[in-house]
Amino acid sequence: MSSLPTTEYCPEAQCLIAAGLQSHVLVPSNAEYTQRIESYWCNSAKLRPACIVQPSSASEVATAVKALADAGQVFAVRSGGHGNWAGSNNIDGGVTIDLGLISSAEYDATTELAHIGPAGKWKHVYEELEKHGRVVAGAREAEVGVGGFLLGGGNTFYSGRVGFGCDNVVAYEVVLADGRIITADATGEYSDLFRVLKGGGNNFGIVTKFTMRTFSSGPLWGGYAAHPMEIMPAAAQAFVDFTANSSKDPDSTLNLSVCHMPHLGGSLAVAVCTNVAGVENPPAFRELREKPEILNNLKKTTLQEVLPYTSLPPNFYNTWYTLTFKNDASIIAKAHALYTQLTSKVQEKVAGGEFTTHCSFQPIPKYYTEHSVAAGGNIFGLERYAHDAILIQASVSVRTPELASWARPQVREMIEGIRKFAESVEDGICPWLYINYASPDQNVLQSYGKDNVDKMRNAAAKYDPKGVFQRLCPGGFKISAVKD
Ligand SMILES: Cc1cc2nc3c(=O)[nH]c(=O)nc-3n(C[C@H](O)[C@H](O)[C@H](O)COP(=O)(O)OP(=O)(O)OC[C@H]3O[C@@H](n4cnc5c(N)ncnc54)[C@H](O)[C@@H]3O)c2cc1C
Repeated sequence: MSSLPTTEYCPEAQCLIAAGLQSHVLVPSNAEYTQRIESYWCNSAKLRPACIVQPSSASEVATAVKALADAGQVFAVRSGGHGNWAGSNNIDGGVTIDLGLISSAEYDATTELAHIGPAGKWKHVYEELEKHGRVVAGAREAEVGVGGFLLGGGNTFYSGRVGFGCDNVVAYEVVLADGRIITADATGEYSDLFRVLKGGGNNFGIVTKFTMRTFSSGPLWGGYAAHPMEIMPAAAQAFVDFTANSSKDPDSTLNLSVCHMPHLGGSLAVAVCTNVAGVENPPAFRELREKPEILNNLKKTTLQEVLPYTSLPPNFYNTWYTLTFKNDASIIAKAHALYTQLTSKVQEKVAGGEFTTHCSFQPIPKYYTEHSVAAGGNIFGLERYAHDAILIQASVSVRTPELASWARPQVREMIEGIRKFAESVEDGICPWLYINYASPDQNVLQSYGKDNVDKMRNAAAKYDPKGVFQRLCPGGFKISAVKD
């Protein structure tokens, strides 16, 4: 932590110092400041705040929020720092509230609940809970942070069993804009806030603790199978059949990516397959497994061992877009064709070939929504859509900001091409856009539907009447920016 004389701190830090947080403030001359900036996953997110404040408890977060709000100081909120775009979790010139010191995970055997700090990395959460033979519906990757993942929703290896990660949160400890620390749950005074935190991002306050349902952990079966790209587009039907039959085997999940990954040998189709009940080679994967394969490491394994297989390399400039559409092979085939065109363009543009492109297809079968509804509901509005759906995360990762600026319209064009094609299929578009995969120019909160937009607006007005999280915390998808 910093130990400069008070006068040498930037003006942005003065309100924090006056509030007694000086020992938690990092300025650019501190080595820890540089370490924290470098630890963002995406290079575009490595902005330069005037200072970083690292509270170590909910009450220190409250002190920081109150001080910043009273001073009219702009700020950003960061948990795991895995957000994919500049400004969602960091800020040039303002103050970044870095929750990095609030990262513990504790299991309560009496209630069978886990209490998890926002900046925990999922690999550490799983490690801690595994000591008690328990697990939660967290990320499929090791380094992703708890806070952004759960406030956005969270697609997990356990979603077939228990729905999205957010559907498994039973209580949120939240610091509101006026510095109050409250607990929002399904039935108490803050049940309206509880609901909108399930997908509503950083619009309402800063979550300092997530309390989640746990369930028994156990060995998994899974890993990845790398296929030659030539299995596409024929493999689209295998994916569609997997999704359509998913409710018969909710323990099995599939994430099929078409990707160009130099470290994996170029262009490939990679299927990450898991069965969380540990069933070996479950029939759900048979159709896909019959396709030509380069190699696989599928075996009886552990959650920790599978986590690296959905990892994406850090320290690139990334452009991510998302779309959700009907479980339909013709749309997947179109997406693959447009992805191939995009990859050729990137290949032509990027001298030396140091880039990755990636388009992953993830089943969102209708019955996931039933889990959400049974758990009290989230705000995605997926219940409006009558069909099984497919979520895609499409991205280009390059080494310079100039190439990233060039890539953004290219990825957008690909997504718009898929959307246009999907619109030609009956009910081809599912309206929900996944906040955690979206580009900042996508209308994420609007995609949840009018009722849910109203719920979010009402909650923001009630719990943050001065609009602190709308005006002073510009990062993330803002409810005040949603147009009717
Ligand atoms: C390699 C990789 C793998 C991934 N795997 C998955 C996956 O398996 N499933 C999936 O669904 N998603 C996955 N994602 C997406 C991931 O869920 C999002 O990037 C998520 O936002 C990361 O959480 P974080 O805490 O690291 O976010 P951060 O970048 O720290 O924050 C993201 C946003 O949430 C806000 N925020 C964070 N914490 C809080 C808080 N406590 N209170 C209020 N606002 C807060 C921030 O202000 C910011 O706007 C993956 C991403 C990457 C890069």
